[in-house]
Amino acid sequence: MAPDRETTETAFVGQKGITVSRFADRVAVVTGAAQGIGAAAARSLAADGATVAVVDLTEDRARPVAEEIAAAGGSAVAIGCDVAVEDDVTAMTAHVVDRFGRLDILINNAGITRDNLLFKMPAAEWDAVITTNLTSMFLCCHAAQGPMVAAGYGRIVNLSSRSALGARGQVNYAAAKAGVQGLTATLAIELGPFGVTVNAVAPGYIDTAMTAATARRVGLEAAEHQRRAAEQIPLRRVGRPAEVAEVIAFLASDAASYVSGQTIYVNGGAR
Ligand code: NDP
Repeated sequence: MAPDRETTETAFVGQKGITVSRFADRVAVVTGAAQGIGAAAARSLAADGATVAVVDLTEDRARPVAEEIAAAGGSAVAIGCDVAVEDDVTAMTAHVVDRFGRLDILINNAGITRDNLLFKMPAAEWDAVITTNLTSMFLCCHAAQGPMVAAGYGRIVNLSSRSALGARGQVNYAAAKAGVQGLTATLAIELGPFGVTVNAVAPGYIDTAMTAATARRVGLEAAEHQRRAAEQIPLRRVGRPAEVAEVIAFLASDAASYVSGQTIYVNGGAR
């Protein structure tokens, strides 16, 4: 049946189009960015206009991601830095600030696992995981707060983990990732008055080299390990690095300007 009267409209179409560039003029450091979640975060920030320091253990490891960003029209530099070594972190931060004149965003992503049941875990495995996953974040935040406080602006996003709630065979990793949440909440209090927000992202099972190594350790193919994990996850699948990167990018953006001291779980609904 024909309508009683016609619907009218007035269309507005921009001549120049709209360019969305959330991170224009922003400079970001992403640690452990040669692969996995860090690489996805570096790509995401760069795609939205940030200049990204792709940081990993060696410059060679970091270079392919930086080159990929540049090839896609973005801006990136590759920097070698062991985030567990204070002198490396100091030098890396100074390099970024000297080169670009600012440091707006820090994504503390580098991390390792050394899984073992408590009775089999040597102290060296405890130390390695606490140092690389937690002390590194203290060092990077310590170095970054100088330029951020001076500028009255900063965004820090730390990678925690669902394992912070407890995970068999991960006493070192769980303790470090729970520590990340305490560090995050405390730095939000200390740095908030200077315009710096500090948040954490706690992923569940994400398809990366880290979880592939876990699968190998328990004698399974990555696909079978993921299939079994997915049975326990409400969304019935494991996550992708880009899905974590989206949440990191939100917390690093001005859209999250009143969010600080939070840990956001990105785990497909698992409790
Ligand atoms: P990957 O192992 O795939 O990537 C981590 C990157 O960090 C690697 O490139 C690694 O280099 C680098 N790295 C390790 N140690 C250092 C160091 N001392 N200095 C600089 N770079 C270093 O990990 P994911 O992408 O899976 O994980 C990223 C973060 O997310 C980690 O903090 C992890 O704990 C966390 N996470 C991951 C989950 C997952 O399911 N994948 C779940 C929950 C949290 P190299 O390879 O040379 O060692």
